[in-house]
Parts: sequence; C-alpha cells; structure tokens
Amino acid sequence: MNKLTRITKEEIIENFPWAAELDLAEEMNNEEEYFYDLSRWRFGNGRMKLIHDMLQEMSNYFESIDKNPGVTVYEVKDVFGYLRVDLFSAHQNIYSIKEHYEKLSEVTCSECGDSGTLRMLKNGLLILCESCHYDRLL
Ligand SMILES: [Zn+2]
Repeated sequence: MNKLTRITKEEIIENFPWAAELDLAEEMNNEEEYFYDLSRWRFGNGRMKLIHDMLQEMSNYFESIDKNPGVTVYEVKDVFGYLRVDLFSAHQNIYSIKEHYEKLSEVTCSECGDSGTLRMLKNGLLILCESCHYDRLL
C-alpha cells in the first residue's frame, strides 16, 4: 500500500463539509476576545487516509439510517503519535466508529498506511512502519 494518492485537508472537508472543525476561536474572538487556535493538521498520508475512511464510514452510517450527518467535530489531532478526534454526536455509533479508527491509528503507519509501531523521533512520537522509519533516519 505504498503508493497512496496524496489526500489534502481541503479535499476531505469538501467531501465531508459537516466534518469541518468547529472554530471556537472565531466564535469567541468577537464576543470575548478570547484567543484559541486549532492546531494545523500535520498528518502524513497514511493518517489522512484513516481520517478520510473514518468520515466515510460515519457518512455511510447516516445514509443507512436516512439522516443528515449529526456530528460536530471540535478537533482532529495527534496525541503522542495517536490520532484523537474530539467530537459530539447524539448517535452512539459515531463514537464506536471514532474509537475504532483511533485504535487503528495506533498500529497504522502515519506515512504510508501499512502496519506500524510507535517510534521515538527527534521531534516527537509517530507511528511508522519499518521502511518509513528507515527513510526518516537517513
Ligand atoms: Zn510506512
């Protein structure tokens, strides 16, 4: 699975507009002059694919029950190498899907999507497969 097409955040949000992170910063800035920025997505393509697949599965779920997607996403982030998604939904299935992909992120190379393990790098922790890890050491 080494040759994945590059997936961008813009493409993901275009496909799943309901999954755009709710920007609390913009809402709060006006009224309370409170400043809070969402961290930028700095994910490898393997991780992007996982995020895409997760949103696709959520989207399929809503289609299967014939409802508009009822999810509010607060933040998609990396916590010590693992994918973590903060969201709210009244549908319990959405949490099951989210947890499934968070777990998957713990064993999926964030660069290429092959199976990987947690690696300690100079600038933090990342899940990488053998070959992507090797590339980073060069
Ligand atoms: Zn890899």
